[in-house]
Amino acid sequence: MCDYIFRNGENCQKPVLEGHNFCPLHTPFTNDADFQDDGWLWLLKETEVSHKIKLGDFNFEGAKLNWFQTPIQITGDINFNDAEINGYASFENVKIDGDACFQDAKFKGPVIFSGMEITKFANFNGAEFLENVSFDNVHFHKDADFNEAKFNGEITSFFKAIFINSAWFNDVKFGEEAESINFNQAIFKGCVWFNYTQFGKNVNFKDSKFESDALFVRTKFGGSTTFSNAEFGRRAGFTGAEFGKDVWFEDVKFNGDAIFYDVKFGNRNCGGNVVFQGSYFRRDAKFNGALFFSNLSIIPIHSLGSVNLSGTMFSSPKMKEDACRVAKNQCINLGDNHEADIYYYNEMEGKRKQKPKCRRWLEYIFIQSIFGYGVKPLRTFCFWVVTILIFALIYYNFQTLESGSEFFEYLYFSATTAMTPGFGGYKVITPWQLLALIEAFFGTFMWAAFITIFARKYMR
Ligand SMILES: [Zn+2]
Repeated sequence: MCDYIFRNGENCQKPVLEGHNFCPLHTPFTNDADFQDDGWLWLLKETEVSHKIKLGDFNFEGAKLNWFQTPIQITGDINFNDAEINGYASFENVKIDGDACFQDAKFKGPVIFSGMEITKFANFNGAEFLENVSFDNVHFHKDADFNEAKFNGEITSFFKAIFINSAWFNDVKFGEEAESINFNQAIFKGCVWFNYTQFGKNVNFKDSKFESDALFVRTKFGGSTTFSNAEFGRRAGFTGAEFGKDVWFEDVKFNGDAIFYDVKFGNRNCGGNVVFQGSYFRRDAKFNGALFFSNLSIIPIHSLGSVNLSGTMFSSPKMKEDACRVAKNQCINLGDNHEADIYYYNEMEGKRKQKPKCRRWLEYIFIQSIFGYGVKPLRTFCFWVVTILIFALIYYNFQTLESGSEFFEYLYFSATTAMTPGFGGYKVITPWQLLALIEAFFGTFMWAAFITIFARKYMR
């Protein structure tokens, strides 16, 4: 009997080849599919395959095959777990009335699954594809498991594929050679997971539809990525994802929360573009802790929820200005004035940093630091108090008052000068009057600014 042991622990019941330990199907090739050496084995395998197909037996678990082509209709399960196919394999337009098992199967040649229909569970867990593979128009009626699969061909296509239930693509590796990974117009009706998956190069989700949650947690997108015109019915989760080059979210509809926590857009070495132009956010867009190295185009966007940018970093001040303005306007629309003030402050900072050096620093000291762009009353008040203290120390040090002697009196004088011009009934010694005048000028200005900022912030 053949030495091959199936996953369920049973032995293969087929008689062995003379001088071998396995039946023809389970006998490995001596040389990589070389007909010269293995010609006789090729023929034996082929006879065995067509015999099995005639009997309606699609259990090819662990089989080593030259190539494979199925009839159009298969009743019952199809099993290629641990199988290895050296050449071309076609499952085109096949309807499988059962489970399709390809767990850890290895396809060394191109494979076509186009138009296939799988009525039960589709298991491609750990499968490996060394050449191009097409799942175009495939209909997955139940769950589809592609976890830990490897796609190393230039083209991997799921064009117009339909996933009725959950689709798992966790930890999948699309190799460096993968020029085009295509999920164009695919429809995911159930939840879909692409967590920890690596896309070696360009990936296309254009016009695809995610009707339930779509998760791309810690996914790595190596080349350009496009989600243009896609629609997310529920949550779109990209936490910790990394986008290598250009990312297109143009005209995307996010109907649930769009979560981009800690996402890296681009990297320090190469710029790129992140385009959210024309996208629609029905709920919140969360970019907390995200890093933007690429150029961000975010205007115009349509948002009904908030745009959250707390802890978000931008490599250019212009991006910061634009993004914070969008977030600010959104806060104003939603009536959250406190949040709006924070974004206004960041927007102004982004704007300041684009100005010529001299103006940039003057604005930094006076407008940003002391007056906090008119949104930080406490800061203005603190600067005012510090001003009073500094002036009081100077007056005290030089004993500038005619009648004063205690430090407290100098402090009192400094405070009244900074609040109301009039020097609080004290007389200043001649050369120091100018200093008192300067304090009166700045102090009253800061005091008035504080009152205005405070009133604007808390009394509307
Ligand atoms: Zn066997």
